[in-house]
Amino acid sequence: MASLPKEELRTIDADEEAAFLDSIDRWIEREVKPVVMHHDHGDIWPAELVDQMIEMGLFGATIGQEYGGLGLPATTYAKIVARISSYWMAITGIFNSHLIMACAVERFGTPAQKAKWLPKFASGEIRGGLALTEPNAGTDLQAIRTTAIRDGDDYVINGTKTWISNAIQGSCFALLVKTDPKADPRYKGMSLFIAPKQDGFTVGKKFDKLGYKAIDSAELIFDNYRIPADNLIGGVEGQGFFQATGGLELGRINVAARGVGLAEGSLRLATEYAQLRQTMGKPIADHQAIQLKIGEMVTRARAARLLTLDAAEAYDRGERCDMEAGMAKYFASEAAVRNSEEAMRIHGGYAYSKEYEIERYYRDALLMCIGEGTNEMQRMIISKQWVKRNPA
Ligand SMILES: Cc1cc2nc3c(=O)[nH]c(=O)nc-3n(C[C@H](O)[C@H](O)[C@H](O)COP(=O)(O)OP(=O)(O)OC[C@H]3O[C@@H](n4cnc5c(N)ncnc54)[C@H](O)[C@@H]3O)c2cc1C
Repeated sequence: MASLPKEELRTIDADEEAAFLDSIDRWIEREVKPVVMHHDHGDIWPAELVDQMIEMGLFGATIGQEYGGLGLPATTYAKIVARISSYWMAITGIFNSHLIMACAVERFGTPAQKAKWLPKFASGEIRGGLALTEPNAGTDLQAIRTTAIRDGDDYVINGTKTWISNAIQGSCFALLVKTDPKADPRYKGMSLFIAPKQDGFTVGKKFDKLGYKAIDSAELIFDNYRIPADNLIGGVEGQGFFQATGGLELGRINVAARGVGLAEGSLRLATEYAQLRQTMGKPIADHQAIQLKIGEMVTRARAARLLTLDAAEAYDRGERCDMEAGMAKYFASEAAVRNSEEAMRIHGGYAYSKEYEIERYYRDALLMCIGEGTNEMQRMIISKQWVKRNPA
């Protein structure tokens, strides 16, 4: 993917970062922890938390300061996401998908598009996400069928997107379409649009999910949806595939950070429980079988964090980092799954009760292996990059 131009490289003063992370910690303690189970169990949109996240500037976290965003480096952003995810992963999806849309506009948009949209994205006045997946095309994005046909100064769009995060609550999406369905190779016929909700753009079926509750995932339906040609990101057709997958590098760092949070949160819950629960006259933390689990969990969580920060640092230096982001996403998401499963075992029968929190981590962790490129694909990307960097 395109890296940040050198003049746009972002840094943050260590004290400033620490103060920001402190404020996130206080917010989690005061506002998130008391309500997470209510919203997760009822699949209820967390309107108050979203307002607070707007207040804190999270909807502009990675948008440049010149557009009203916080302009945070990817490292700080990853630390924020990991911290929040260690208590409730799903709410990070509400601003992350939105920021991937913003990233596409900031990275590839025309000056007029940036000036028009980014301030409203940064303030949270307009919120949304990324609409790539279709019923027949997830991993194989080039197989999408949604079309945008030029008609005078407009494009007319028809098709269906599925599994789109923030579909119901969001009002604008980065929408991947085919402007030339016959193009060969297929990616040359793909374009990315800024698509606000208006006539011809409706929400379809909402998914009832295993986890990742409270954030809405639904279909988006486009029926003779007409938007101005000015909404074509970058103003030139045929760039959409790279624009859409370009944003995924930051997206992968974000999913890795969510995995880190889930892995660390599972470890925290298991560590507490193992010291409180007694069998055979001593805390289960003193039994070797449990120690082996915790030893592996600590190591996995730490390795996931280091890989994620390594990828984020490469991103912040403006280097190509699809391999590093892929390794972080792959390892951290698998760490989230393994640690949440081990934490379930450490909780014994109580893991199976919704009165305990650990079951949420287990349900949420599995998604991390799917989103922003499945872990099967990540390993192929890592391998291809590795071989390319090491020619025989
Ligand atoms: C909760 C949730 C939220 C989501 N949010 C969004 C969103 O906001 N926006 C959006 O656009 N999409 C979103 N998605 C969709 C997600 O990106 C896709 O589900 C994902 O890309 C996988 O696509 P698929 O489900 O069609 O699986 P498929 O592509 O059909 O894959 C099925 C299996 O085959 C494997 N596979 C496929 N092709 C290959 C290959 N060439 N080589 C090896 N293995 C392969 C996959 O790894 C997987 O194991 C979301 C999905 C979920 C579950």
